[in-house]
Formats: sequence, C-alpha cells, structure tokens
Amino acid sequence: MDTFVTVEHARRAVLDAARPMPEETVALRSAVGRTLAAPVVARGAQPPFDTSAMDGFAVRRADLGDGTGELPVAATIHAGEVPSPLPPGTAVAIMTGAPVPAGADAVVPVERATRTGDTVRFHGLPEAAAHIRHAGEWLSNGAQVLSAGSLVTPGVLGLLASVGAATVEVRRKPRVAVIATGDELVDATGTPGPGQIRDSNGPGLAAQVEAAGGDVSGPHWGRDTAEDLARVLDATAEADVLVFAGGVSMGERDLVREALDARGAEWAFWKVRQRPGKPLAFGTLDGRPVVGLPGNPVSAAVCFEVYVRPLLLAGLGRPTDRVTEPATLDAPIATPAGLHTFARVAVRRDPDGRLCASPAGAQGSHVALSLAFSDGLAHLPADWDDAPAGAVVAFERWAWW
Ligand code: AMP
Ligand code: MG
Repeated sequence: MDTFVTVEHARRAVLDAARPMPEETVALRSAVGRTLAAPVVARGAQPPFDTSAMDGFAVRRADLGDGTGELPVAATIHAGEVPSPLPPGTAVAIMTGAPVPAGADAVVPVERATRTGDTVRFHGLPEAAAHIRHAGEWLSNGAQVLSAGSLVTPGVLGLLASVGAATVEVRRKPRVAVIATGDELVDATGTPGPGQIRDSNGPGLAAQVEAAGGDVSGPHWGRDTAEDLARVLDATAEADVLVFAGGVSMGERDLVREALDARGAEWAFWKVRQRPGKPLAFGTLDGRPVVGLPGNPVSAAVCFEVYVRPLLLAGLGRPTDRVTEPATLDAPIATPAGLHTFARVAVRRDPDGRLCASPAGAQGSHVALSLAFSDGLAHLPADWDDAPAGAVVAFERWAWW
C-alpha cells in the first residue's frame, strides 16, 4: 500500500470514503444551513394571480383614448382583497400586490396620473400590460425550484417559504467525533501546570465541524495510552466520522493508529506530501471514515479544511470542488522540496483591483496566529521552487462563513 501519497491522491481517497447521509424532514424554520436531500417543486404558480407592481390605477387601455383623458374611479383594491371585474369606462385605484381585476390590461402608476375626488386624469397612454405581474410569470405550478444538494441559505429559505415548502427534506448532519489526544492537554478554561498546554484543537475543530454543516460529538479527550484511546473509541461508536488530532506521527506515545488497528481499521494513507500536515492518517473503521490529524493546531485546522470539510460536504451531497482564484504574492513564500505547501495568507486588492496575497505571519505549524489572521490558503504545488514576490498562486478562501 502506498502510504505516503500526494495531496490529490489523498483528496480522492478521502472523497471515495464518503457515504451519503440519510434523509430527514425538518420544519422550514430549522432548515437554514442544511442541505436539500431532494428537489423542491413549487406548490402553486408564482405570482399566484395577476398582480399590480405599482400603486396606481388599473385600466382598460381602450377606455383611455389618447391617454390624457379622465375616467371615474369605480373602486379601490388593496393587497389581500379579491376584486370584481373592472366596469367598462372606469378605472380602479389599486395598491402594489393587489390582484388586477378581470378586464384591466394595464396599471398606470400614481406618478403618471392626477386624481381629483372620484375621477382620475392620465398623463399618457400606458403600454399594454404595464406594471402587471402575470400569474406564473416566474414560476409555474409544479416546476422544480431547487435541486438536491442545494445549501439552504437565508435567501433559499425565503424562496422555500414562498413556494409552500412548510417542511423540507434535508440530509442528516454527519455526527463528527472530535478527539484531541495528548497527556499535555488541559481545558481552555483551566490553568496549564508545568509541561501542560491548553487544548486548542478540540474547540477549534469542533467549530470547524459546525461551520462545515456537521454535528459535533465532543470534543473528547484521549490520553496517550492504549486504554484511554480504547475508552474514547467506545464512547464515539455512534459517530459517522471520527476526527483525531495528535498522536499520529512518529513519537513513542503516538498511539492513535495502534488503537485503531486494534479495532480493525483499514488505512488508505498515513502521510501526505504536504506542509503543513505531513503526518495525516486516513482510513475507515467499520466503514466509517477515520481521520488522524496532526497535533499542531495549524496543521490540524488546515488538514480539516482541505480533507475533512470536503468529506462532510460529499456526505451531504454538496459540491466538493476546490474553489480558488489567482492571487499575486506581495512577499516570497518558501516551499519545501517535493511537498505541496498550504500557506496561510491574507489578501487585499491593489489599486487595479488585482487580488494580492501575503503570508499571515510566521508559517510554523505551531503558530496559531496564522490561522486567526489569514483569509485562506495559497496553494504552492509540490513541484514548485520557493515562490518569489510577484508569483501568481491559487488562493482558496476559508469557507467558514
Ligand atoms: P502530536 O502530533 O501529538 O505529537 O502533537 C504535535 C504537537 O501539537 C505537540 O507540540 C502537541 O503538544 C501539540 N498539540 C497536540 N494536540 C494539541 C491540542 N489539542 N491543542 C494544542 N496543541 C496540541
Ligand atoms: Mg501528542
């Protein structure tokens, strides 16, 4: 088995292990952020009836002569009312959103008319169908509005409401167990003793799971013993995906792989030609994807975005293509030979509107500053030499919001 693989190989192997999440039905108001499991069709046409697009007067154009005469105002139609047919030789006052009465073939806006008591004088002849939104103009009854795999944004939610989707079929959120390993870890609320550090991977990765549409189990802690890792594996048996952080490299106490081997895990790879994140293990346990992220917080977060986010999106039926845009480097970036570099960069627009990128501080995989102050990743392929200022790189924005 090839265990030291390229980034592209690793991404394919991860996506191959994705399993579609089952469907569930949720109420409309809970659907934001979820992914549609089935296409949505319109219940009813949109607009549902011929609608006035303006406050004005509904008229029959044939009654207007050259368009500058007067007509009696027979009635007023407000939004939500059901109008009678337009009596011949009259106009009716009509409000935006009100149904256009049968017989009317144009709406003259109030700005193009002068009302005096019960009569109205027009300033010109309206075009046929002026300011009338016809029934079914932008959606016919039963037409497909959204396809499976669509993310329910606030904008999509409004559309779902307008087409009568009171409940929505979505993919269940993948349950992702986040397991930070290490005898040195204390909770972020605690005070580290000698030799200890605060756990940043647990909270950080949990937030990344949620931002990617998953449901977090944990964060759990695993101590660097076979027994404790076995305990955590028992505690996370319900998870769809297991994400370990730390304990996957070459140290004496890097026991995650052994603990998983003891349960029969099958590995696709455990090293990737990349920086940060060379020690990255991926496999399956009882058919469930298992990821062993490196312990250094920058490596863990970057590898989550590069591999785990697409894995979760694939399970939800969402697109997984990497979206990049060209950016010109403001400063050089060093690249290790033969490794794909994920540089954390901040971007700006130059006066010509060109996107420019510069390293977001020190690039060490333990320096969490670069995560906090970057806008995304610059990809420097494995066969590149050091990239000088002025080089154009593929920039991938963090997809956190
Ligand atoms: P490991 O892969 O377990 O050898 O960890 C690599 C480095 O990452 C070590 O310096 C660890 O102390 C650090 N590290 C591991 N887990 C965490 C964590 N949850 N939060 C912060 N740093 C961590
Ligand atoms: Mg460790």
